[in-house]
Amino acid sequence: MNAHWDVIVIGAGMSGLGAGIRLAMAGKKVLLLEKHYSVGGLNGFYVKDKILYDVGLHAMTNFVPARSRGHPLTKLCRQLRIPYEAFKLEQQRQSRIQFPDVALTFNNHFPFLTENIRQYFPKQIDGFSKLDAAVENTSDTALDGSDFISAREQLRSYLNDPLLTEMLLLPLFYYGSAHVNDLDWRQFAILYKAIYKEGFARPKFGVRTICRLLVDRYRTCGGVLKLKTAVRSILLDSSRAVGVELASGEILYATQILSSVGYRETQALCGKTVEGEPSRLSFAETITTYEATPEACDWNDTITFFNTSERVAYEPTKQLIDLRSGVICIPENYGDHAPDGSFSTSVFEPMVSDKFRQNPAVPSSATPSQSTTQRLMLRTTHLAGYDAWKNLSPEAYREQKKACLKASRERAFHILGGQPSQTVLAEDMFTPLTVERFTGHINGAIYGSTKKFRDGRIGYENLFLCGTDQGFLGIVGALLSGISMANYHCLKG
Ligand SMILES: Cc1cc2nc3c(=O)[nH]c(=O)nc-3n(C[C@H](O)[C@H](O)[C@H](O)COP(=O)(O)OP(=O)(O)OC[C@H]3O[C@@H](n4cnc5c(N)ncnc54)[C@H](O)[C@@H]3O)c2cc1C
Repeated sequence: MNAHWDVIVIGAGMSGLGAGIRLAMAGKKVLLLEKHYSVGGLNGFYVKDKILYDVGLHAMTNFVPARSRGHPLTKLCRQLRIPYEAFKLEQQRQSRIQFPDVALTFNNHFPFLTENIRQYFPKQIDGFSKLDAAVENTSDTALDGSDFISAREQLRSYLNDPLLTEMLLLPLFYYGSAHVNDLDWRQFAILYKAIYKEGFARPKFGVRTICRLLVDRYRTCGGVLKLKTAVRSILLDSSRAVGVELASGEILYATQILSSVGYRETQALCGKTVEGEPSRLSFAETITTYEATPEACDWNDTITFFNTSERVAYEPTKQLIDLRSGVICIPENYGDHAPDGSFSTSVFEPMVSDKFRQNPAVPSSATPSQSTTQRLMLRTTHLAGYDAWKNLSPEAYREQKKACLKASRERAFHILGGQPSQTVLAEDMFTPLTVERFTGHINGAIYGSTKKFRDGRIGYENLFLCGTDQGFLGIVGALLSGISMANYHCLKG
């Protein structure tokens, strides 16, 4: 491997890929290092029992139609020179925030949510309009300042019905808060726009459509990607990073380094310990596949955010999973559904290491054609206790995965009001330990540090953060984070 690079990017998740493309487009000699056997990070994919699963992706937030100006999604298409149509986006039907006695529905048309609020919370509609105006006036993507402002406090100043506050917060907590029972006001503004004002879509064929596009674009621009290549440490000369040492012992030098692996994790690579406890907000996710259609079960919503009491407890749990709240996703309830769960070798080709292609988990007989079977996938997410999972023996871990999967599915049936009569074709579950193992995020805490580093600076001259701990979240947010950090630190001037 070439030993000196203009920029080394650590991690080929969404932010690392976004940064890598931007740098390669500008003619930089850029190397993207990923410890896993495939790209995507928290938004990756894998194969089990011949079925291809997305990790993470419930919804791509920030949906806007093509040619909408000044929105994150169209901005990132422009910055990466990727045509909007290439994402093959299918819009959500509608989503729901379900509390015990009331539900709010929303779709990709903001007035629909406003009307819902007018109907169920008529006295709050003026306050909601003022809240909306305040969000619009918030400079949420500015790279300066990182003081925490409580979104809950802000909401209280506009809305005097605590139930509406809880309902509006629930989806935003689940889709991006690193804070216990709260989130930073600027983060609130980002997520409010991404979820309520813009909306949800999903690429046809799931997250691998995005991964493939990004890897193709990166390589076309001359970027180099190394999979199964973990960085063991970042080499420092006082406050300057000079290069990285790989797990293999190889040393590579670079003029600049961008790290997408998180604040604590990056400091650890530099041999430094960050004081204070790392986040314990971890999640578990389950996936069940049936041979059925959503219509057969009368499941009409795309995403359901539910809470079983009037107050949301978005906090670390000592239990394996906390079923008091959660997110349920029916991927088939995007656009006109076409079956896409079957395994196709062709979608993998540019994105995985050779070792992964030889992995026995990938069946050699797999056919590249799509199956014609109608598949219905049910995905659920809950808060989960890292320590509870960590303390299990391997056997108990396997048993508890099965038990929690079943309990989560039953909770989903109860919330959705019905269940498929068909048998389960396939099922899987991942815990905070799975997230930690495959992405390196301490405690499997996907939203990272409570402190965000908006300008990417963490105390070194030429080593910067991008991604989750820089502060832009989700697929679109992480991509924009990579782009903006590359522009700001490596390409300006
Ligand atoms: C269960 C779950 C559900 C989600 N649902 C959604 C959703 O529906 N919609 C949405 O928009 N977002 C969702 N997200 C969030 C979204 O996935 C993240 O916000 C985004 O992908 C973060 O990207 P990133 O590049 O910052 O970090 P990551 O994706 O964490 O990328 C970091 C990369 O660095 C690699 N790495 C770590 N350490 C090293 C090392 N030492 N050397 C080399 N490489 C290393 C990791 O393997 C990883 O690939 C979800 C996440 C999860 C886990």
